[in-house]
Amino acid sequence: MDLSTNITYIQGIGPKRAEVLEKEIAVSTVADLLTYFPYRYIDRSRFYYIHEIDDSLPYIQLKGRIASFEKMGEGRSRRLIAHFTDGNRFIDLVWFQGIKYVENRLKINVPYIVFGKPTRYGSRYNIPHPEVDPITKVNIQKTNYLQAFYNTTEKMKNNFLNSTAIRNIIFTALKSVSNIDETLPKELVEKYHLMSRKEALFNIHLPQNNDILQKAQYRLKFEELFYTQLSIVRQTKYREKKFKGYVFGTIGKNFNSFYQNHLPFELTNAQKRVLREIRSDMKTGKQMNRLLQGDVGSGKTMVALMSSLIALDNGFQVCLMAPTEILAAQHFSTISELLKPMNIETELLTGSTKKSDRNRILNNLKNGELKILIGTHALIEDTVIFSNLGLVIIDEQHRFGVAQRAKLWSKNIQPPHVLVMTATPIPRTLAMTIYGDLDVSVIDELPPGRKPVQTLHLFDNRRDSINNFLKKQLEEGRQIYIVYPLIQESEKLDLKNLEDGYEYTKEHFPQYKVSIVHGRMKPAEKDVEMQKFSSGATQILVATTVIEVGVNVPNASVMVIESAERFGLSQLHQLRGRVGRGANQSYCILMSSYKITSDTQKRLSTMTQTTDGFEIAEADLQFRGPGDIEGTQQSGLPFDLKIANLAKDGKLLQLARDIALELIEKDPFLELQEHIVLKKNLQKLQRSNINWSMIS
Ligand code: ADP
Ligand code: MG
Repeated sequence: MDLSTNITYIQGIGPKRAEVLEKEIAVSTVADLLTYFPYRYIDRSRFYYIHEIDDSLPYIQLKGRIASFEKMGEGRSRRLIAHFTDGNRFIDLVWFQGIKYVENRLKINVPYIVFGKPTRYGSRYNIPHPEVDPITKVNIQKTNYLQAFYNTTEKMKNNFLNSTAIRNIIFTALKSVSNIDETLPKELVEKYHLMSRKEALFNIHLPQNNDILQKAQYRLKFEELFYTQLSIVRQTKYREKKFKGYVFGTIGKNFNSFYQNHLPFELTNAQKRVLREIRSDMKTGKQMNRLLQGDVGSGKTMVALMSSLIALDNGFQVCLMAPTEILAAQHFSTISELLKPMNIETELLTGSTKKSDRNRILNNLKNGELKILIGTHALIEDTVIFSNLGLVIIDEQHRFGVAQRAKLWSKNIQPPHVLVMTATPIPRTLAMTIYGDLDVSVIDELPPGRKPVQTLHLFDNRRDSINNFLKKQLEEGRQIYIVYPLIQESEKLDLKNLEDGYEYTKEHFPQYKVSIVHGRMKPAEKDVEMQKFSSGATQILVATTVIEVGVNVPNASVMVIESAERFGLSQLHQLRGRVGRGANQSYCILMSSYKITSDTQKRLSTMTQTTDGFEIAEADLQFRGPGDIEGTQQSGLPFDLKIANLAKDGKLLQLARDIALELIEKDPFLELQEHIVLKKNLQKLQRSNINWSMIS
């Protein structure tokens, strides 16, 4: 039996169980099984005495004998109790199910090992449904390690595949598998003192002690992260070799005239630095793939605009793609306003562009008269043909699916430069994995004069004083956002909440006009309402998270977020970014119910304590894990990580990346004898993943 053997060849796995394992946890080969890693371990390397038991203990094991049995209760509360003693004290072992089986198997006065989790009843403890085994040599051996526990599903349990069963199957497989090859070059294993793959797989399931377990975990995490990075780094190198970028050699009249005559403010140092980084990419003949991260309000639009002017100066067209119509329209209005004195043709193309306009736009685009095209997904359609597209700017990129991005890319034979902008700060470890093939620029400075938004977390009982506060702000001429969650599963209920909130708001602020915006409205209706709010015709906007991205109303000074506990931190941060855009002190009020967990309490207090987007993103990663981070759900992680954890293994990831970079630098095509193994395994990995080289 080797790693590629089907699991049906393992003793104890018939066709039925194999099918369940395949369906439920995608395990079909021995390799899959051995990389189905435990989620925790329980120390079975020592025995406890009954008098040591207290509330702090998890699973424990005891040595002793059953003194007597007792049956109690009727019907549902029927239970079997074994009075167990370690020779000194007594504790009750309790079974509610399988009573017959237990009665037949267990005997009085035989030495047993008992394993289970003590539960407290009043001042006494008992152990419900313990594992009980006779003290034999084998069983003593079996107890001499950290016991692994495996995640199982309801379906698995119904087929007798609980954690113990999985452990036994893995144990059998480990005994019968003949060769587990090393997957890392010898040189690396030696240099970084890594456990061999074989040893690691054995010890991840059956560790003798914590020390060995940690070494096994380290080795397997390293391997996983290293291969991920190797793949990304190699493809980036490959792409750099294969595709040449347009050379934007000149800075010409568009850029210069804008910079000298029409720039409405002094650029921040961060904006200048990022522009230099972009400029130096574009002039070298390298094809730019750059991720621009900048917190909300940091001024990414200006960077996008000025990069566009460089493209124009070199005779190329630019397209800027945004995830929503609202945002596209806003970009269009900002940019065409700024460019008004310069006579540069700019257009907006979205799903709701009129047919006649659309035809005109597409024509001008094809013949090259139209220089800057701003829009939504509509830009990706096949009918949209550029004359010479030189730069693609994607705002809030995570909202685009992978395939959509790839399609934009293919609009030219020679790929355009790509600038991806995101206001969702992505923790470094995630960026290295999701956007590992992009160069990163960061705007880490806000334009001068901004006052940080003051954030409060309040409960419902403060409603009156909040309303008074809102009234004062309105009297001073400010505007207010009130945001409700809208989450798919209970969309109807949410919509009702939103509408109730709208009615409530109108009732409590009768002198003011209230707009409502949500995702169920037609784009045109939405636009009308948004327009009313941004022009100041309405003073309060009741909305769902459709306003989360990009909306810019500098006069709005308060953001009230209802049921804030239902939002992720990054999302709250995005929402908060809608205020604090003008000269006035702004406020964000997080409303939540009393009934929140201490974790939620902590999450919300992160919001009240910091306005630094990166800090918040990092906290979000710690609280929720990488799968849930705003901005990663859609794009997904390029690789399934089975054991490494991006929230916790940042250091190891950095090490893995550095090593991968160095290795690819030395041997870009993995041709050296000692790297053949890497090439082979990478191919295996990539077969099960999308072609990431074509995506930026
Ligand atoms: P974001 O990075 O969130 O897209 P924007 O580009 O919308 O930020 O900029 C936010 C606001 O800051 C806009 O009103 C913009 O005009 C203004 N702004 C951008 N850069 C500067 C600057 N250097 N000095 C002053 N205001 C600026
Ligand atoms: Mg923006």
